[in-house]
Amino acid sequence: KLHNTILELKGNIRVFCRVRPSLPNDSTGTYTVVSFPTSTEALGRGIELSQSGQKYNFTFDKVFDHEASQRDVFVEISQLVQSALDGYKVCIFAYGQTGAGKTYTMMGRPDAPDLKGLIPRSLEQIFQTSQSLKDQGWKYTMQASILEIYNETVRDLLSSNRSSDHAQTENGTSSKQYTIKHDANGNTHVSDLTIKDVCSADEISSLLQQAAQSRSVGRTQMNEQSSRSHFVFTLRISGKNENTEQQVQGILNLIDLAGSERLSRSGATGDRLKETQAINKSLSSLSDVIFALGGKKEEHIPFRNSKLTYLLQPCLGGDSKTLMFVNISPDQSSTGESLCSLRFAARVN
Ligand code: ADP
Ligand code: MG
Repeated sequence: KLHNTILELKGNIRVFCRVRPSLPNDSTGTYTVVSFPTSTEALGRGIELSQSGQKYNFTFDKVFDHEASQRDVFVEISQLVQSALDGYKVCIFAYGQTGAGKTYTMMGRPDAPDLKGLIPRSLEQIFQTSQSLKDQGWKYTMQASILEIYNETVRDLLSSNRSSDHAQTENGTSSKQYTIKHDANGNTHVSDLTIKDVCSADEISSLLQQAAQSRSVGRTQMNEQSSRSHFVFTLRISGKNENTEQQVQGILNLIDLAGSERLSRSGATGDRLKETQAINKSLSSLSDVIFALGGKKEEHIPFRNSKLTYLLQPCLGGDSKTLMFVNISPDQSSTGESLCSLRFAARVN
């Protein structure tokens, strides 16, 4: 469209794989079960996993090994982020088992500039670029919302009064419903959700802090739920060119998905079982939707099968752009989960 940032996409869905380094707490220390083919056609795109003498090979649009820095990763997505300023709807997901590096990839360590993840980097770039486009007559306004989806329920992470938000009424339902609706123009409305006008990356970083705060408040009540919920950051971007009267509406969704690990069915009971079922359902719905979107045929896309896919419906498909990170732990004890994650990613790719 504008600013010459059209991406050459295979369809509009890309999958990047990232393997984190071994950590001191990994059960097998430095032992790693992944390797990276060096043949020309798979260079930088292939990953091989060994399990019980079997080797499994996968190819993605890009594979980042344990040495890839946060900057190396951002370089590969900066154009995609930029296209939200051109009026595209963009979704970037991080998928993988708990501990595989999803939050490191998305948020990073906000305290260390080199270790910042792609959310802060993307926002800095968006505001920088929108400033520099002023010279050409572009004026942008931006709105942010941050929510999580836990057990198929939306929670507002920017609510000024989150505790009352979660007060259970006598009949056991929450006072706020956060009902998701799409209007005829493809705009999404979530009732009662806090939407903040934002003018700078600094403003957004304090919103992200607030969100992290209310997420961890929820965690003590809900025992470690942060890895059991989907975190969804949304930036709505409206641009108008004062010289040409051109208008654009872009959306950038950055999503840190719930951990994909499967709990053994026998071990999980009660709330934990319900939680796991909700996660499995929404992750498999996401896979079904992306898989169906990648298909050649016009077919029914099952957006309504989960809150997450329904929420993101206008931003998946059409001329929107989707990038899925599949985060992998190199640790031997994670081989089974890593194989599941790679298969999930291979299906949507
Ligand atoms: P997840 O969000 O998938 O549960 P985290 O992002 O919290 O996983 O990562 C687990 C641990 O591994 C954290 O201590 C994190 O700092 C570290 N880690 C993850 N990815 C990397 C990486 N690429 N480089 C260095 N450390 C990483
Ligand atoms: Mg995490």
